[in-house]
Amino acid sequence: MKIGVPKEIKNNESRVGMTPAGVFELIKNNHTVYVQQDAGFGSGFFDTDYAVVGAIIVPTVAEVYAQADMIVKVKEPIAEEYPLIKKGQIVFTYFHFASSEELTIAMLESKAICIAYETVEETDGSLPLLTPMSEVAGRMAIQQGAKYLEKPIKGRGVLLGGVPGVPPGKVLVLGAGIVGIQAAKMAAGLGAHVTILDINMKRLRYVNDVMPSHVVTEFSSEYNIRRHIKNHDLIIGAVLIPGGKAPKLITRDMLKEMHPGTVMVDVAVDQGGCFETTVATTHENPTYIIDDVVHYCVANMPGAVPYTSTLALTNVTLPYVLKIANLGWKVATERYPDLGKGLNIVQGEIVYKELAETFNFS
Ligand code: NAD
Repeated sequence: MKIGVPKEIKNNESRVGMTPAGVFELIKNNHTVYVQQDAGFGSGFFDTDYAVVGAIIVPTVAEVYAQADMIVKVKEPIAEEYPLIKKGQIVFTYFHFASSEELTIAMLESKAICIAYETVEETDGSLPLLTPMSEVAGRMAIQQGAKYLEKPIKGRGVLLGGVPGVPPGKVLVLGAGIVGIQAAKMAAGLGAHVTILDINMKRLRYVNDVMPSHVVTEFSSEYNIRRHIKNHDLIIGAVLIPGGKAPKLITRDMLKEMHPGTVMVDVAVDQGGCFETTVATTHENPTYIIDDVVHYCVANMPGAVPYTSTLALTNVTLPYVLKIANLGWKVATERYPDLGKGLNIVQGEIVYKELAETFNFS
């Protein structure tokens, strides 16, 4: 099969859909890989790294689309890419169709085969192609939180790890899922005191089993949240209600109860946020302050660490890319039901029930 790897053109997206290691595997399996010039540059992979393992470097995005049977990328195609997509071409990427009717219509009209990373689903309901980005965001939440706790950027002036003779900072994590556990682990590693809340006792039991004793679990209730916000320095929002909007666990009135300079990182911002005062921000302008509380609410946190994010993402996408390339999309999606769940649009037809319902296309 001919596989194409375009350079991402969405604003501020430096990740790339395939690393030289992926090209190496595909070439070993007798496929041909076209990589757009500078596609990996933002993630620290150079054209020479791709060429040396056998990729054909092409100068334009149009050429990648023209040559390839399958496009492997990171973000959903944007308007200038729509006309480049060919009938019957496989496009394997994050689509997040539910948030764009325009994209859905464009992909229906293209008659392409759209396999969405975010709906590839294992039998236990886990989403293997979303997990690594949650892992990145969870770890990054503490890195960012620690930075914004510094006084010159309006934080409380607390060093999370403390020093001999001075107690460590206190981190409150709301949600003990993938983001929450990674955040707790990072905070604990810095020596902070961590409290992690969830409504799922299984998650809390797991955290209690695997984390050191300075990570304390508690059931998530409004009472407990109100109690803890008064004496924690950094609060991480990491809750998710599958298919729904995040619950507003910290309301506007609660901000007055916090120490001035408390930092709140709302990782759940992409699902509407779990703080009432959350407004999505960008890496250029990541924070704002309400009632002396610093809010960090960047919706695409992994975009700031493209080297790590690209490797984490392509580790999990490559096995699926190989299956599609080796077997063709039809056999691969029939033989591997997890991959089959990724099929959203096939040659002009919506095949993912929830998507059809979202836009009343059923
Ligand atoms: P997850 O499903 O693994 O974990 C969510 C947890 O929240 C679950 O354990 C659930 O029981 C818990 N929860 C639900 N209601 C709760 C409540 N009232 N109180 C406490 N806990 C509650 O999800 P995840 O992968 O950890 O993702 C968390 C959020 O982070 C999602 O909204 C996801 O989209 C988002 N995310 C954002 C970025 C970003 O760049 N901002 C990146 C990755 C993920």
